[in-house]
Amino acid sequence: MDLNTITAVIRPHGRDDLPAWQAGDAVLGGGTWLFSEPQPHLRRLIDLTACAWEPVEAGSAGLSIAATCTLAALDAFAAGAHGWSALALAGPCCRALYGSFKILNQATVGGNLCLALPAGPMTALCAALDGICLIWTPGGGERPVPVLDFVTDAGVNALRPGEILRRIDLPARTLARRAAFRQVALSPEGRSGALLIGTRDTDGAFDLTVTAATRRPVRLAFDALPDEAALAVALDGAVPAALWYDDVHGRPDWRRHVAVRLALEIRRELAR
Ligand SMILES: Cc1cc2nc3c(=O)[nH]c(=O)nc-3n(C[C@H](O)[C@H](O)[C@H](O)COP(=O)(O)OP(=O)(O)OC[C@H]3O[C@@H](n4cnc5c(N)ncnc54)[C@H](O)[C@@H]3O)c2cc1C
Repeated sequence: MDLNTITAVIRPHGRDDLPAWQAGDAVLGGGTWLFSEPQPHLRRLIDLTACAWEPVEAGSAGLSIAATCTLAALDAFAAGAHGWSALALAGPCCRALYGSFKILNQATVGGNLCLALPAGPMTALCAALDGICLIWTPGGGERPVPVLDFVTDAGVNALRPGEILRRIDLPARTLARRAAFRQVALSPEGRSGALLIGTRDTDGAFDLTVTAATRRPVRLAFDALPDEAALAVALDGAVPAALWYDDVHGRPDWRRHVAVRLALEIRRELAR
């Protein structure tokens, strides 16, 4: 839709071009959410696409994903040869966002994290793989924030006014893990009610990341694979009642039920 309160669209080509932050500013990623509903409080859009950041950069330390990388670009990279088994998660995570091909080609990884919906599949992917957000702060500084701490509540992120998410770094150590993905929604094209990812290291360590069912990502970490009962107890203990998310896409008791079920499925898959 037209955002008819916008008076300027600024297209910086790099950090030096960024304007001083003003009330009424918003960073524009793919715009799939920004242009989907009225934004009467906004006056200027700062369009990051002109920065032309490399979408995905691979190195010995791991993978750097630009905030402006589209879900389609990440999906295409993950489908190619790279030698990281956990990157097989990227495809199902990109498709867990039930938009059309237009959304897949337009929505950005950074926009998905910054929108901070519990059902943000890029948040799930990057949190499960121990991603670190690199945040540009006003005045030229930067600060790292683990993705697990970036989404702090439903629709709330760790950005302060004027801060920009520049990229997400995924460490090679986690990318090398075996991984398992489970997701469920109330209807075939519905928003995720629960999206869980498990990863297993060669030393046996097992991490479980719970998203969509909870208001923010929740991590359970084990030195070795717990038995089924211990995993169910640990999951219940890690998520207080108020943290199970409640909206039209699922009630808290249903989300808790399916999260435990999916956690046990993931455990079984990674036990093999
Ligand atoms: C049909 C449909 C289905 C959808 N399903 C889902 C779903 O299942 N799960 C889900 O999570 N979302 C869903 N969405 C919402 C949205 O499309 C996605 O979250 C998408 O990934 C947002 O990315 P974007 O690049 O388009 O963000 P934008 O719309 O550009 O921005 C989203 C927010 O993030 C801010 N932002 C963007 N980039 C940055 C940055 N680099 N630094 C600082 N702030 C930034 C913007 O200012 C804005 O507040 C859906 C939307 C549609 C239309």
